[in-house]
Amino acid sequence: MADVTALFNTPKQRLPGIWVGEHCTGVRGRHNGRVNIGTNWAKYHTYRASTLHEPRTIEELQDVVSTAPKIRALGSRHSFNDLADSAELVSLAALDPAIVIDDESETVSFSAGLRYGELGVVLQEAGWALRNLASLPHISVAGAIATSTHGSGVNNGTLARAVTALEIVTASGELRAIGPVDPEFDGAVVSLGALGIVSRITLDIEPTYEVRQDVFSGLSWNSLIDNYDGIVSRAYSASIFTNWVDDAVGDVWLKSRITDRKPPQELYGAAKAATDVHPLPGVSASSTTPQSGVAGPWIDRLPHFRMDFTPSNGEELQSEYIVPRQHAVAAILAVRALGERIAPHLQITELRTMAADSLWLSGAYETDAVGIHFTWKFEPAEVLALLPLIEDTLAPFDARPHWGKLFHTVRRELYPRLPDFVALADELDPSGKFRNDYLERNVF
Ligand SMILES: Cc1cc2nc3c(=O)[nH]c(=O)nc-3n(C[C@H](O)[C@H](O)[C@H](O)COP(=O)(O)OP(=O)(O)OC[C@H]3O[C@@H](n4cnc5c(N)ncnc54)[C@H](O)[C@@H]3O)c2cc1C
Repeated sequence: MADVTALFNTPKQRLPGIWVGEHCTGVRGRHNGRVNIGTNWAKYHTYRASTLHEPRTIEELQDVVSTAPKIRALGSRHSFNDLADSAELVSLAALDPAIVIDDESETVSFSAGLRYGELGVVLQEAGWALRNLASLPHISVAGAIATSTHGSGVNNGTLARAVTALEIVTASGELRAIGPVDPEFDGAVVSLGALGIVSRITLDIEPTYEVRQDVFSGLSWNSLIDNYDGIVSRAYSASIFTNWVDDAVGDVWLKSRITDRKPPQELYGAAKAATDVHPLPGVSASSTTPQSGVAGPWIDRLPHFRMDFTPSNGEELQSEYIVPRQHAVAAILAVRALGERIAPHLQITELRTMAADSLWLSGAYETDAVGIHFTWKFEPAEVLALLPLIEDTLAPFDARPHWGKLFHTVRRELYPRLPDFVALADELDPSGKFRNDYLERNVF
């Protein structure tokens, strides 16, 4: 077992580039007092919390949690809605990362404030890897698993599926360890922060591997409709980008492990892109991870965006609906019929896949799924007005919204274990310390 914390000289001395180019508008340092906490990454939600705690030890965290009447954890602020907000917030960014790699069990344990980009560099250096990542490495692991954040791949679950154990500071300040043998485990991973403050996370790891990215342009709509399963299954991870209204669908990004089958020369009529591209039209590819078939470590290829740059555009809103994969083509056609309404407000849509899991509040709960994602222009009124239309259109396909992005309504009946989740929250947090407006509206 290796304690690789020494790679960070102090908890605050993060790896190069961690904060560069980020929209971290909050104040850093140890506050434990009334401060202007600022906004989320998208500058859309202004946190109404007036106190931001940054404990440096678990004991301090336990003390903060047990004495606060209303508190929630703040991750890296990349959610687009008010999910993280409360009267008081606590960030775990100042805790010692305490990264421990266990070669025997092939797991890594670490403090829950860590971001994937920070963890990934340490794992890669030690010869290890995670199975999958989201489009950006900037997000905290705790925040990502709390909302069932995902990357892509028909055989890859959401990022929460890699969790093998959690430690949670519950409302009383007690430290509770939860593992797969515990009956509440499947409810505790995608927690929306409603069960307590996750202080330590253990994830499955595997020996490091290399990935290449290849982009294919000009896929026709007929080809996508006729070959959807073939396209999304053609590589370890596939992303399909579209603006819904052009004659061609758009670009398809294939991420292939180099030990797997090589990507094709041509993908169902789509040609290999001559140069690297950005997912958003007209944006320089300098902030994206290398493409054009150049192999590199998983940490530098699975995310679309490089850690030392602003991910995506920075001037945007996002929504996403997770649909059972059996409905993928029908759901895509239904949204395409709205193309003229959507396109004026859209930067790009990304279609990804994820494998089924058993996590109660996961978008992929008991179903292989497709994520229909929208990167919107920063036009809140127009976007919010469109969401009910999109949700009505996707209702026949049992679409579950991404918890961390903008949506109109959650259909509670699509989460058969929701009553069990509410009961678990009541047990761990009888006074509703971790509840907020978002949770009252959408969950409780
Ligand atoms: C540019 C961009 C790209 C994105 N790409 C993707 C993508 O590829 N795939 C995808 O699925 N999503 C994506 N997202 C959405 C993002 O991954 C989620 O919103 C994720 O939850 C953000 O994590 P965070 O650390 O910023 O969490 P926050 O937004 O800070 O918090 C999210 C939730 O996690 C809870 N939380 C955080 N830390 C803890 C803790 N220690 N204990 C308990 N609860 C905690 C918070 O209380 C809150 O409920 C993207 C977002 C942006 C801005």
